[in-house]
Amino acid sequence: MNVKAPVIMETIFVAIAIIVYSLTSNTFFIYNFLYIGTAISLGLFLMAKNKPYARNIIMLAVGSYLLIYVGILGHENMLMSGFWYYLFLGVFEAAVIHYLIAKIAGPFLFGRGWCGYACWTAMVLDLLPYKTPQNERKNWGYFRYVLFALILCIVAGLFMFKVNNLELVMFNMFIIGNVIYYAAGIVLAFKLKDNRAFCKYVCPITVFLKATSYFSIIRVKIDSDKCIECNKCIKSCPMDVDMLDNSRKRLNGTECILCTECIKACKQDALKL
Ligand code: SF4
Ligand code: SF4
Ligand code: SF4
Repeated sequence: MNVKAPVIMETIFVAIAIIVYSLTSNTFFIYNFLYIGTAISLGLFLMAKNKPYARNIIMLAVGSYLLIYVGILGHENMLMSGFWYYLFLGVFEAAVIHYLIAKIAGPFLFGRGWCGYACWTAMVLDLLPYKTPQNERKNWGYFRYVLFALILCIVAGLFMFKVNNLELVMFNMFIIGNVIYYAAGIVLAFKLKDNRAFCKYVCPITVFLKATSYFSIIRVKIDSDKCIECNKCIKSCPMDVDMLDNSRKRLNGTECILCTECIKACKQDALKL
């Protein structure tokens, strides 16, 4: 990890804070993005210094802030249901802005950095025992599309049937949705011996993330001249990515969460971001 990365990241978040504030005139977004940018920058600094658990610390700082402060205390549904709800209402608020930046536009630049450094579901899953998958990958990815469509239909149905007290309904959906996600994620992790099984097969947000992160500017690249084909990088990857292939069509390329485990595993210094 380059020591310039924390400075670049802080600069990006300051720019985002200014842009979003100028669009909304809401000072919350200044504090919000400065907090997230500073947490990520400090974590990247610790990663550059090879401190263990630096990435977990970033995830806990950002993920718990979004879950507890913005979501639970602020009564903002930050799940996909909240994104559709506020989008249908035409309200340009936290959930919509969050999705646009972290999960739709942002991945063109930083891929699935959200999944590696900020997600409040994965901040717990990454603490489970199976950091690298112990079994062959399943062909269950279709489930994410089913869940994506189901959530969209449920939120559309709430509007079509003119359900009352929608704000309370959405808050309850946020709480119940998170409980289900944590339970499913932990069960799948132990069942399949893979901390990130929920991310690979279930999470509906990956419908956005996989599509846009395909074009990510920041991605792991290999210098084939340095590679001795020891495969230590492949074995260290939690997401089954074939980072030995530099092409965009690399196997499971849109699964990369930029965790840098492969880079750390390569003693030939053949991989970089
Ligand atoms: S795939 Fe979903 S659950 Fe996993 S880290 Fe990304 S957003 Fe979070
Ligand atoms: S760990 Fe390094 S040297 Fe070994 S296969 Fe991966 S890139 Fe090549
Ligand atoms: S180990 Fe490398 S290829 Fe795999 S998810 Fe992490 S950064 Fe991406």
